[in-house]
Amino acid sequence: MNSKFKKRTKIIATIGPSVDSEGKIKKLLEAGVNVFRLNTSHGTMQDHLEKFKTIRKVCKENDYNAAIIIDLQGPKIRVGSLEKDIELRTGEKAIFAHNSTEKNVIPVDYEGIANDVVKGSKILLDDGKIQALVEDVKNDKVYVKITNGGMLKSRKGLNIPGTTNSLSAVTKKDIDFIKFAVENKADYIALSFVRQKEDVLLAKKYINDLKADIPVISKLEKPQAIENLESIVSVSDCIMVARGDLGIELSPVEVPICQKKIIEECNKQKKPVIVATQMLESMINEPIPTRAESSDVANAILDGADAVMLSGETSVGKFAIQAVETMAKIAKTVENSKFYKFDNDFKISEEMAITRQAIAFGADKMLKYVNAKALLSFSHFGYSTRLMSKLKPSVPIIMISDLKETCRKMALCWGVYSFYKMWDDVLKAELLINIDNFLINEIGLKKGDYVIITGSAPKLISGRTNFIRVHKIGT
Ligand code: PGA
Ligand code: MN
Repeated sequence: MNSKFKKRTKIIATIGPSVDSEGKIKKLLEAGVNVFRLNTSHGTMQDHLEKFKTIRKVCKENDYNAAIIIDLQGPKIRVGSLEKDIELRTGEKAIFAHNSTEKNVIPVDYEGIANDVVKGSKILLDDGKIQALVEDVKNDKVYVKITNGGMLKSRKGLNIPGTTNSLSAVTKKDIDFIKFAVENKADYIALSFVRQKEDVLLAKKYINDLKADIPVISKLEKPQAIENLESIVSVSDCIMVARGDLGIELSPVEVPICQKKIIEECNKQKKPVIVATQMLESMINEPIPTRAESSDVANAILDGADAVMLSGETSVGKFAIQAVETMAKIAKTVENSKFYKFDNDFKISEEMAITRQAIAFGADKMLKYVNAKALLSFSHFGYSTRLMSKLKPSVPIIMISDLKETCRKMALCWGVYSFYKMWDDVLKAELLINIDNFLINEIGLKKGDYVIITGSAPKLISGRTNFIRVHKIGT
């Protein structure tokens, strides 16, 4: 089998100034990137449009089905513009207020700040480097004591780990970027700071109002999201363990177990899960990772992550391509080790299509009886293929779809390799010859190899998956 079918775990690269040329995008794809993330927290819409077009162009020219995620900034709170940096010393007092221009009051861009905190609430600044405890709230002003001092710069992030009820899950800026995502046919929309399932449903409503159905990735980065884990996963299309903000709002100490809990729930509900942030952080400046970082990537994969993500490593790093190569090598090493085993305790979910679950489960089980070399899944929207992916089968899942959008979306799903073909035909002798030629010439299988084929009958792709065939190439 062709060596390009070796890496099963998917890699997401965040795009930024380090990788903004066509040549760099091509190199990222060659190094193993499957999905690109455009982070709308940075850059203008025009910047993102240019990056979007570049990615699509390079993929088209080089025949890659990569997906693009538009990552919405969400209700990220920031300190306002400061004339100069403010030194906040441990033990000293400070005051915060919405858009304040008063001397000695630190402006914050969140209107609800005084409503959402009470005495005893924590306020964290600049990724948690500076910490404060609320002592009083009076006349829209929040009086705090600094518990961990530092130099506060303009526009730094501010986290309130408790409830932020006055914040809308989808901001005005997010709505503009949802429109952007729909107009440009983005493959996924990521939603930041999800607290409850209603946040996800609200984002989906905005998407549906534009007559689109882009799948939503919920970024779990608030303590409330962990409390509402099950219901959030159930309404989301995919989940991201967003360890950056999660580590600020909870504590870095709680991130590893949280990661395992989230992955476990996603696997139970058969939803793809991404582990993100600081995976190879030191590679922003160094050509090789720390041992702790390479272990972290490996352990996320061993935990059962479907995809792993690079942020600063690719967007602003000095060694973007090497970071992807490193991640791909770690993934392949882990996937080939005896430790990469999952207990496929596949329970039929009531909420999902029963036939397709049965077929996905059956196809995976059948592989070993004939020592099949691949699963060949014909699919229109990729529903059954996604279910197969969650079983982490021992062989590559080759998906053939008559929809380009489906081919791109499946780039995020573990172990799936997509091919766009207009093969919406009945499964008759000529088609089987076509399939054999494809398996031999494009996948690198041999005459006599077995594959398990799933699809729809009588029309191969257009209906819902309803058959499994044990197929021996050339017979
Ligand atoms: P961000 O999300 O990079 O958009 O902040 C990921 C995270 O918080 O880990
Ligand atoms: Mn975040």
